[in-house]
Amino acid sequence: MTLMTLPRAPRVGLVSLGCPKALVDSERIMTKLRADGYDMSPDYAGADVVLVNTCGFLDSAKAESLEAIGEAIAENGRVVVTGCMGKDADVIRSRFPGVLAVTGPQQYDEVVAAVHEAAPPVPNAFLDLVPAANLGPGLKLTPRHYSYVKISEGCNHRCAFCIIPSLRGELVSRRPDAILREAEKLVAAGTRELLVISQDTSAYGVDLRHSAWPWKGREVRAHMTDLARELGQLGVWVRLHYVYPYPHVDRVIPLMAEGLVLPYLDIPFQHASPKILRSMRRPANDARVLQRIVEWRSICPEIALRSSFVVGFPGETEEDFQYLLDWLEVAQLDRVGAFRFEPVEGAAANALPDPVPDEVKQQRFDRIMELSARISAEKLRSKIGKSLEVLIDSVDKETGGASGRSKADAPEIDGEVHLRDSAGLNPGDIVPVRIEDSDEHDLYGVPVT
Ligand code: SF4
Repeated sequence: MTLMTLPRAPRVGLVSLGCPKALVDSERIMTKLRADGYDMSPDYAGADVVLVNTCGFLDSAKAESLEAIGEAIAENGRVVVTGCMGKDADVIRSRFPGVLAVTGPQQYDEVVAAVHEAAPPVPNAFLDLVPAANLGPGLKLTPRHYSYVKISEGCNHRCAFCIIPSLRGELVSRRPDAILREAEKLVAAGTRELLVISQDTSAYGVDLRHSAWPWKGREVRAHMTDLARELGQLGVWVRLHYVYPYPHVDRVIPLMAEGLVLPYLDIPFQHASPKILRSMRRPANDARVLQRIVEWRSICPEIALRSSFVVGFPGETEEDFQYLLDWLEVAQLDRVGAFRFEPVEGAAANALPDPVPDEVKQQRFDRIMELSARISAEKLRSKIGKSLEVLIDSVDKETGGASGRSKADAPEIDGEVHLRDSAGLNPGDIVPVRIEDSDEHDLYGVPVT
């Protein structure tokens, strides 16, 4: 019997930089390439072509992207660049004339075509006939048990420190039925947690005039509350990121109290001082937000609030910064991320007067981190003795322990729950855990048998 030797599939190496949204783009591109018969290469040496998905949000991210391109050129030589820095094709080409192609963010067809050109796919009648359903909905770069679901691209706002709208354009929402179909496939393939992302999740569907689409015999509007309710019916954790505090956000809180959506809101407030928020041109700049936080907690007491803040924005005085610290003392947010203001090429904020000196930015950064660590430690300490549901992320066979996350913890950005006994658990399991200890960011416990 003569065995047919299958031709070797071309291999693509991937360097994915940037935010979760860029990661979703990488997943989409790799899913398509995989469907076209490509294999992934875990290293430069085995790759026929290396794809670098870049981030161009901050100058430091651009520098990191250029460094990654340089490394891929040195190590492999056959490089295709995509992502946010694709807008700066001239800069990339003048620095690295050997780059094979440069494409921009969300130019899926272009980047896939560039990879086809660089390393042509080999038709493979055997492999190409495998039904897509048997391969799962996509080649995922995140662990199988959680998935990011991008519901829109672009943004209609013009925050003074941000160049995303000029990179990614105006808001373009996906149809709700397309999002729900993708979410269903992800759940069928083993996802236990859906992380909803976009530049502005509360604005979802504005461009579609919140029209309704038929879905499973009912009408679902392109609106955050409808979408959250439907995703909540899929029986997995649903976590909402990048939510701006528009008035209709209040209507999502009862869904959290009902258990349809995780009691978790990631709201990038960025500042609290009305003067600085105006100067930042932030959307949904609501002076009543502290009062609303109290109301949200009265409807859903276990809600966890996460936010990020920029310190040292031009014109920020000590008084403005102290206002922010006082606000945080009252708001008692569960998780806080802080950034020192960094002027990004093309951002309107660069033209503002009264820049804050670097050493003052650093001091303010240290002060806000110290305060938020104290608040976080106190909040976590109050969980000792309680039993919390935990989604297991990893199991350490050597130590016999495991780690996972409670409903209050998003992957990568929030804390973890460390289990001293993995008790035969596997990643993706959701189990009750009795909390025994805590520190500034993490919890420690043991599964409840
Ligand atoms: S809301 Fe503001 S910070 Fe967020 S993407 Fe839009 S312009 Fe940028």
